Amino acid sequence: MNLPFRPSPNGNDRGCTDQQTLKQRGQHEVFCGLTSIVWLHRKIENAFFLVVGSRTCAHLIQSAAGVMIFAEPRFGTAIIDERDLAGLADIDDELDSVVGRLLERRPDIELLFLVGSCPSEVIKLDLKRAAQRLSKLHMPKVRVLNYSGSGIETTFTQGEDACLSALAAEGQTETQNASDHLVVVGALADIVEDQFRRLFSEMGIDNVTFLPAKKANAPLIIGSKTKYLLAQPFLGDTARVLEDRGAKRITAPFPLGAEGTTAWLKAAAQSFGVSEEKFESATAAGHRRALIAMEAHRDALQGKRIFFFPDSQLEVPLARFVSEELGMRLVEVGTPYLHRAHLSEDLARLPAGTLLSEGQDVERQLDRCRAEDPDLVVCGLGLANPLEAEGMTTKWSIELVFTPIQGYDQAGDLARLFSRPLDRRTRLGGLLCN
Ligand code: SF4
Repeated sequence: MNLPFRPSPNGNDRGCTDQQTLKQRGQHEVFCGLTSIVWLHRKIENAFFLVVGSRTCAHLIQSAAGVMIFAEPRFGTAIIDERDLAGLADIDDELDSVVGRLLERRPDIELLFLVGSCPSEVIKLDLKRAAQRLSKLHMPKVRVLNYSGSGIETTFTQGEDACLSALAAEGQTETQNASDHLVVVGALADIVEDQFRRLFSEMGIDNVTFLPAKKANAPLIIGSKTKYLLAQPFLGDTARVLEDRGAKRITAPFPLGAEGTTAWLKAAAQSFGVSEEKFESATAAGHRRALIAMEAHRDALQGKRIFFFPDSQLEVPLARFVSEELGMRLVEVGTPYLHRAHLSEDLARLPAGTLLSEGQDVERQLDRCRAEDPDLVVCGLGLANPLEAEGMTTKWSIELVFTPIQGYDQAGDLARLFSRPLDRRTRLGGLLCN
């Protein structure tokens, strides 16, 4: 078996740690934070996401989530209409009445999020006050929280950050005799959460909670004994709330592929004093499985040139994965925001000299992309079809957020997400030639 990975960087080789970024400020193409409801509503059982917004917001969620009309979805939109905008109706009364009817019809709801939007922010609707008022009315059966999913100057993964910040802010405070415990922060598919929980348990780390939890009312305890490990790279606000409450971040790269997952788990193991032998015995089999699952994709992707447009904020960890573990060459790694502290370990593993860009000026970036003519372009939905029409091969970045990609047993699937578009392009080329 081929195991040609570059060694992890040592103190003399810190990859892109101090690399200057190309800052771009211009027209950009992004989805708004409401999009994150698509995966959050599937993750948190007994929660409901009530968007307070326009028909546009309702269309976005409905079409992105694709729930059938006869299903009982865990999201909906309270539509702000002309009467509300004209001040002819008392919007607080309207909202209370919508929430009352919803909770009467859906007794399964234990946690209700009021999700702000561009329209609710434009009319300065105070959803924080509304959430406090409605919480008083419906506690203890239903907790009501609020956060913003507005699309003004945001990217779609910031919706998750805002949601988790709201949960972190109202988690319980540790008691005085609390012992060290681990909080894994970032929405993970249930299957991935179960795998990580098992691995932590095999290492002897049993006091683990996940934020968000599967159950809406699962306790979240935060304080100075909390060590948190980010599972997603776009959670700057959530991290700030946790640290304000005394929690400490465990520095790690993100758990993608064989090497990323091992380094992520190892950072937790070291923080909790797990012995080297115990760590090896818990992780060796998974690491090996991941290498085997990625092997065929590595052969297909080795040496191929890849260009990341800024979209999901997963770009830097993904670039680390494809370059370090699949041997791809990075043409440009664009990201909406570059959080150097949270991404430090991934940046250190990028090849020195990689072009990193932050923000977007879409026309200029398209020019750079066309000039470089990469083998694969990772970009948002809005750019993918036009670029395909120009003959480029693309991968939708949003698919990398919707799909379970973290951990050893997803490493092969993650590699396939990059090899499949190239394979498809080759087959199409063959068909056209015949
Ligand atoms: S929140 Fe703003 S950007 Fe998002 S769908 Fe509603 S109006 Fe559009």
